[in-house]
Amino acid sequence: MLHIGCHLSSSKGFAAMGDMALSIDADTFAFFTRNPRGGSAKAADPADGAALMKLCQNKNFARLVAHAPYTMNLCSADSGLRDFAKNMMKDDMARMELIPGNYYNFHPGSHTGQGVDVGIGFIVEALNEVLPLAEHTTVLLETMAGKGSEIGRSFEELQAIILGVDEKHRERLGICMDTCHLHDAGYDIINDLDGVLNEFDKVVGLNRLKACHLNDSMNLAGSRKDRHAKIGEGHIGLEALVGVVTHPALRHLPFILETPNELPGYAAEISLLRSEFHRRMV
Ligand code: FE
Ligand code: FE
Ligand code: ZN
Repeated sequence: MLHIGCHLSSSKGFAAMGDMALSIDADTFAFFTRNPRGGSAKAADPADGAALMKLCQNKNFARLVAHAPYTMNLCSADSGLRDFAKNMMKDDMARMELIPGNYYNFHPGSHTGQGVDVGIGFIVEALNEVLPLAEHTTVLLETMAGKGSEIGRSFEELQAIILGVDEKHRERLGICMDTCHLHDAGYDIINDLDGVLNEFDKVVGLNRLKACHLNDSMNLAGSRKDRHAKIGEGHIGLEALVGVVTHPALRHLPFILETPNELPGYAAEISLLRSEFHRRMV
């Protein structure tokens, strides 16, 4: 069975997102832990979190994949911004404890001119402080397109972060692949998905792979742009994306659509991918 959902608005709270997911035949979803542009977050309601967890259990949802704000940069050259990001992440770990057992995905960060190694050093430093607070959460590094000074474009950079983190906290770390980002970063998921996954396995290990953002791309492979397209309307195409959701190494993962859609558009993509999945798997 395909586990799929999309990015949902968290403005009405936890349980409302569960109902929204059910209404579009999703059995997982993503949401921003707070306003993606700003830092402040409403106090989360424990009863609301518990209601969502009950719904997820009753309806056999796969794990949820919360998303940190885009603005959170653990490796900025500005120490004030780094501290701000780290404190935001610590606060998010406490909020995630209201919905225990799920994933928290974040963009490793942009080194803003300091170089990849310095950037990775700051990310590792922050994770060593944050991960001890992730009691029931697995924190996922997202594979990035490599726009600007983004870290996480290559599997090697992601693995360097993982290996930098204290061994005792590493079990709290995983990877979320983003198909648009992989494609834009230059990994050939259209013609050689097997090769890309073999390389991931060699460099990082497939056991670290916990979730997948399923997006088409508005740009050509290797463009390092990061602009998502609707499923089947970009340069990756429906065939290759169906290849991703049905791949034996991937098909158990929660898949999250981050395509430019409102709810009806997401419902249509979920329905399309569920039927394509079913057609291939029988
Ligand atoms: Fe992301
Ligand atoms: Fe993504
Ligand atoms: Zn993206």
